[in-house]
Amino acid sequence: MTSAETRIIESFNELNLPEPILKTLSELGYETPSPIQAASIPIIQEGRDLLGQAQTGTGKTAAFALPMLSKIDPSKRFPQLLVLAPTRELAIQVAEAFQAYSRYLKCSVLPIYGGQSYDNQLRQLKRGTQIIVGTPGRVMDHIRRGTLKLDQLQALVLDEADEMLRMGFIDDVEWILEHTPEQRQIALFSATMPPEIKKVADNYLNNPKHIKIETKTSTATTIRQRFSIVNRNQKLDAFTRILEVEDFDGVIVFVRTKIATIELSEKLSARGHNSAALNGDIPQNQREKIVEKLKQGSLDILVATDVVARGLDVKRISHVINYDIPLDTESYVHRIGRTGRAGRTGDAILFVTNRERHLLRAIERETNSKVEPMEIPSTKDVNQKRAEAFKQRINDTIAQQDLTPYQEIINQSIQENDHGLESVAAALAYIAQGKQPLFFSEQSYPKETEFFKDNPRGDRKNRRGNDRKRGDRGYDKSGGERPRRKKKAHNDANMNSYRIEIGRADGVKPGNIVGAIANEADIDSKYIGSIKISDNHSIVDLPKDMPKALFKKLQKAYICGKQTNMKPLD
Ligand code: AMP
Repeated sequence: MTSAETRIIESFNELNLPEPILKTLSELGYETPSPIQAASIPIIQEGRDLLGQAQTGTGKTAAFALPMLSKIDPSKRFPQLLVLAPTRELAIQVAEAFQAYSRYLKCSVLPIYGGQSYDNQLRQLKRGTQIIVGTPGRVMDHIRRGTLKLDQLQALVLDEADEMLRMGFIDDVEWILEHTPEQRQIALFSATMPPEIKKVADNYLNNPKHIKIETKTSTATTIRQRFSIVNRNQKLDAFTRILEVEDFDGVIVFVRTKIATIELSEKLSARGHNSAALNGDIPQNQREKIVEKLKQGSLDILVATDVVARGLDVKRISHVINYDIPLDTESYVHRIGRTGRAGRTGDAILFVTNRERHLLRAIERETNSKVEPMEIPSTKDVNQKRAEAFKQRINDTIAQQDLTPYQEIINQSIQENDHGLESVAAALAYIAQGKQPLFFSEQSYPKETEFFKDNPRGDRKNRRGNDRKRGDRGYDKSGGERPRRKKKAHNDANMNSYRIEIGRADGVKPGNIVGAIANEADIDSKYIGSIKISDNHSIVDLPKDMPKALFKKLQKAYICGKQTNMKPLD
């Protein structure tokens, strides 16, 4: 078992990665390898099999993609690496990551997944692709048809293996493993290690190195920890609203990349905040000057990456904002420890996108502390705060300043023009406020509803950016054919039953049906209702109002090597 704490790796330069990859990482703004990357990359480079326990959001994709890419020979035009992923979303995401990381390499990447036409996949396969990222069903199909040849495969990655098990793909995965050369290297990643996955590892991995990132960490009780679920593109508005209503002194905002420090700091400055970026590209003497300004109070907001903010000790930091959630719990603990210093209290606020909820749960579990949910301040909250601050300024001025000369002018103005005292005071307030309106309008900020407070997913848009309306049947009618979140219902009014011509005699198990339908139709498995398997056919319940195109696709889909020939059962 390897723990990432055994050796701290500060930079990707320490990892023996080829120059074109280092150049890409620098352009992407990655500064430090995450723990899973620091632990996995040397093992994969060594050629050893690896059994990694890690979740999405920990930097797992780069942990295998970077060392695997370093081994690809672009002059050889046949599949050298196969990555198996449970869903088409993940396959696309992983393929995109490979494409991004191989920007300066000459190899090509092909995603192959259910629901996509075979023609394009065949054309690309014929051209000779070095890296294939696919879902098990479709990969199996191509192997059977002879269109995907794995006889010269060098390495295989099983990504989210426990998810493949849950979706009924484990037999398919084993079948694919059987069709790869004996000497290939395998990296198996799984968030959990159920016995079935352990068995696959025992049977197919050769003396694997087991990696599990253990974090034994605790957070100070003087720090109030809160989180808010926001979409990526709403973070800036959410943050500026928070700055309006929270009483803050110094603030450190953590983002994931060097580029993000500059981008965010510029946006904050454009909105009138006193902010600066701090990242590893900024020369040391300049960094020191920035930190000094923060200490002295001539700078309020510092936008930083983890590395440069490590150990920063500035007493006036009242708030730490985790603008991008950290990839591991230890970083979270380091980050929020920048506030609540010298016996003071502090506030830590964390932005979480819907996909990252499990990272929040891991933080709570591993630090054994509760992070409270936080509402993004509404327009009314912000305006109320502005009104209070304005009243306070009036009170302070009356208490602290000699107003005699002004009082004389005001008295004259009232007598000469017959103004009411209230009108004069309001006119002065207007002058004092200048061009900047005292209250912000709904138009200048997104509506509160867009923060999806009442939406349990925290994200009302699907991945294609189409709004999902309440009351839809379960399929996205925009052509995306994606089901809406809905309670699992068996044989109820929202479901229709369908017959497929595959049964016990074909060796089918419920998991095979769930997995195939989920991938071919891009339906989350939780929408798939009851499944009854008979000798030569099966009945499966699916959400009502299935789009025609999707039905046709499912009719042609293969399960256990046979076409479903799906028909509605009335
Ligand atoms: P993953 O766990 O592979 O889904 O990665 C989660 C996110 O972290 C992705 O958006 C990656 O681009 C990003 N990421 C991965 N490694 C790093 C790193 N070392 N520094 C900054 N961002 C990273």
